[in-house]
Amino acid sequence: MDSQKLEWMEVERRNRISRGTRGYRADEERESIEFQEIDSEELQRLRRNRQRRLRQKRQKRIQRIRRMIALFLLLAAIGLICGIVIGVKLLVERKASTEQAMAVDKIQKTAVSPAEENKWEDFYAASLSVPAMDVQLLTINEFSRPGELLPKVKNIFIHYTANPGTDAEQNRNYFQSLADTRERSASTHFIIGYEGEIVQCIPTREIAYAVMKRNYDSISIECCYVDESGKFTDATYDSLIQLTAWLLHKYELTPEDVLRHYDVGGKNCPKYYVENEEEWEKFLLNLGGYMEDIAQAHRNSVEGE
Ligand SMILES: [Zn+2]
Repeated sequence: MDSQKLEWMEVERRNRISRGTRGYRADEERESIEFQEIDSEELQRLRRNRQRRLRQKRQKRIQRIRRMIALFLLLAAIGLICGIVIGVKLLVERKASTEQAMAVDKIQKTAVSPAEENKWEDFYAASLSVPAMDVQLLTINEFSRPGELLPKVKNIFIHYTANPGTDAEQNRNYFQSLADTRERSASTHFIIGYEGEIVQCIPTREIAYAVMKRNYDSISIECCYVDESGKFTDATYDSLIQLTAWLLHKYELTPEDVLRHYDVGGKNCPKYYVENEEEWEKFLLNLGGYMEDIAQAHRNSVEGE
């Protein structure tokens, strides 16, 4: 074996490797011819080693390419998911803004009729004092007085306490107790007792938890009663007319804006006025009559000046 030639071939081999991987195949072919000329065990061993190393390098290269493809696919998948999420979000936002625009449209289209326009003008112009009431505000808590501003008032809702024989203060204390018992969310702005006493639980500038879907644009009045029929006593009835009229005056609303809890969501509340529809109609007429009396008194006082 010519050791000088062996040495030279080893140097050549290293040079080729250092020239990079591109030349491998050509080098390999050329080398195999050169190697055929020398037949020795040592040379064969070197050749086998070299071929093994080349194989390993090739495998590593394939693995690297596979990893890059996997990474690319992963990034593409993430990109696709992000795209879908953003797309859906944009669609939802667009739909919401369209609905809002339609709602505004609706509001603008319901103009008051000329007859209605002036109907309660004198009532609103009259000065009306706040009905006598006991202000016992609930402490701010998650379950009965969330302490959130009431943005607008479109309706006044009338309820009954669903608890015969209990008075206004007891019902007020029940709402306060929810802060500790946390058993449910419930409250009201006002409670009228069966002796006609009015207890205020929540300021009119804040929301109450009284009419699930309408807590942010209404004010609620709960009424106490004595027997299972749910009928209000005369004292409760009179205070209810007085308090409701004062609220309609305050927010420039009309008797048509006074609703039973039943009118939104169908709950049997206030029981007596759900079961006796004509009594409810009568209540609204009486309320209108009371308001008309105030308007008339105002007209008289203006004329008398
Ligand atoms: Zn109710």
